Formats: sequence, structure tokens, C-alpha cells
Amino acid sequence: MIDFHTHSAFSDGTDTPERLVELGTAEGLAALALTDHDTVAGLARFLACQSRTPIRLVPGIELSCRFMERELHLLGLFVDPFDGRFLERLDRLRLRRETRNRRMVQRLAEVGRSLDLDRLQAQAPGGLITRTHFALALVEEGHARTPREAFHRFLADDAPGYVPMEPLEPGEAALWIREAGGVAVVAHPGRFAGGRFVWDQALAHLKAQGLQAIEAFYSEHAPHQERYFLDLADDLGLAVSGGSDYHGAAKPGLALGRGWGSLRVPDECLHQLEALRSASPASMKAIEVQA
Ligand code: AMP
Ligand code: MN
Ligand code: MN
Ligand code: MN
Repeated sequence: MIDFHTHSAFSDGTDTPERLVELGTAEGLAALALTDHDTVAGLARFLACQSRTPIRLVPGIELSCRFMERELHLLGLFVDPFDGRFLERLDRLRLRRETRNRRMVQRLAEVGRSLDLDRLQAQAPGGLITRTHFALALVEEGHARTPREAFHRFLADDAPGYVPMEPLEPGEAALWIREAGGVAVVAHPGRFAGGRFVWDQALAHLKAQGLQAIEAFYSEHAPHQERYFLDLADDLGLAVSGGSDYHGAAKPGLALGRGWGSLRVPDECLHQLEALRSASPASMKAIEVQA
């Protein structure tokens, strides 16, 4: 079993990278990836654990993109966290996020929900502030009873406090991932709701933009969704990945490796994805032409 989708406190999870490795080791996983949102800051510590565990540790990232006017997340697996060009690109992404966050603080103040920036920062020890941290701060300041309510009332995509980030296109994100030596995976496609017909077309389109795999195994996919995305991957010639989206205490009850209890990501995914990684440099030119 493997888990190729987890978050540490370097984004909006609550565990250290070391703790994730401990949990994965206790779970007896064959491989584990750390995929924090928009940052590789936790990966050096994560990879430093390799000498202390039999699990294969895979460096990763989760990039938020805009696709068909909605939010779509891409996972980059096997990215090189020390690649200079990749780090520069991520720095620019961080600036986009910081600008967006400042606007969100203004918006929230306009609707009478002032947030103390220091307190917001304190919710994000890793330095990267996401809407999850906004939700925690809104609860702390008494503007909502639970993070869930904070999302519903203020932070969800159609809520008054939300400001989108300057969009990152999936094709651009896939290029960044692949130029950093990684494999580009469409994350939790089941959350990007839409009819069957839409997904067929959308995935074919994403594949043309450099996407190589799809996260068919995911904690929140119902069995029929898992089956559907496995079949679709097969039809389109995409590889398959899977993971829990573990966030520690930020998603209570969701276990690393096992999700809500029934998640089983086969080791075969590791082998498929690794094969793509070695195939990456040769196919790079074709992507550059399209980008
Ligand atoms: P950001 O990248 O700052 O836009 O924040 C995205 C994070 O907010 C994701 O990691 C999700 O876990 C979380 N999120 C987004 N929408 C919701 C929602 N409706 N309910 C709960 N969490 C959400
Ligand atoms: Mn998250
Ligand atoms: Mn995601
Ligand atoms: Mn995630």
C-alpha cells in the first residue's frame, strides 16, 4: 500500500514531516509522498528521514490551478525540491498568494470580520497561509463556531470573503512539475464535480497539456467514482495515483494511508508513476511546444 497525497504543517496540515514518516512506517506502507500546497519547504526534512525508514519517500507538491473557471489541483510527484528554476517559480506563486491573502483580509474586514494578521500568521507556522488558516483564525476571533462554518459563510468559492488567486494554468503547472523532474497528476478528480461527459473531454484536454496521471484512488471517492476514474485512465492512457489527503488534526478522523478506513492504493501505482518519471525528459520538448 502507498499514500501519495499528504500535507504537513509546512502548508495546512498539523504534523511535522518526521511525524508523517513515522505514521507511514507504522502503517507498513511501501511508499509515501509529502505533497504540501504550493511549497517544497518541508521536503528536505522529509527526505532526510529516508535513512531511518524502509518506506520509499517521494518528494511532491500540490499546485492549485484554474481550469474551466473552477479550482483544479495538480500533484507533482518526484519533483526535485532543490531545482533552482522550480524554486523561483514557486517564489513567484507565493507572491500571488500573499497578494490574494491581503485582499481577503480587506474583504473580510468590509463584512465586519476583522482578522489580526499576526494571529493569521501564527496559524501557519510553515509560513504558507491558505484558506484553512483563515478558517481557524475566524473561529479563534469568534466570527464562526467551526472551520466548516467559516468556509460556508465566508471562505468558500462563492462566499463574500473569498478572493481567487491570479490563476495558474494546468498546462503551466504541468510544465513546472515536469521540468523539475516530476510526474504531473490530476488530484481528486471526483471533487471537480461534473458529468461523465465533461470529464472525458476535460481529461483528454489536460493530457494534451502535459498531465500524465490521475488520482483515481482518493479517500473521498465513492467506489463507483474510483471505478469510473480507473476506467477513464485506462481509456485515455493515463497512469493512476492515489492518496489520502491526510492533514493531521486539520481533518480529524482521516488516517494516513487508510483515508476514512477503506482506502487501499496498490503498490503498482508507484511503479507506473516511476516509469513515467524516467520517460519525462524525452517527452519534454513536445510539451514546450504546446505551452
Ligand atoms: P487556498 O489554497 O488558500 O485557496 O486554500 C485551499 C484550502 O482550503 C484547501 O487545502 C482545502 O483543504 C480548503 N478548502 C477549500 N474549500 C473548502 C471548503 N468548502 N470546505 C473546507 N475546506 C476547504
Ligand atoms: Mn489542504
Ligand atoms: Mn487538493
Ligand atoms: Mn491535498
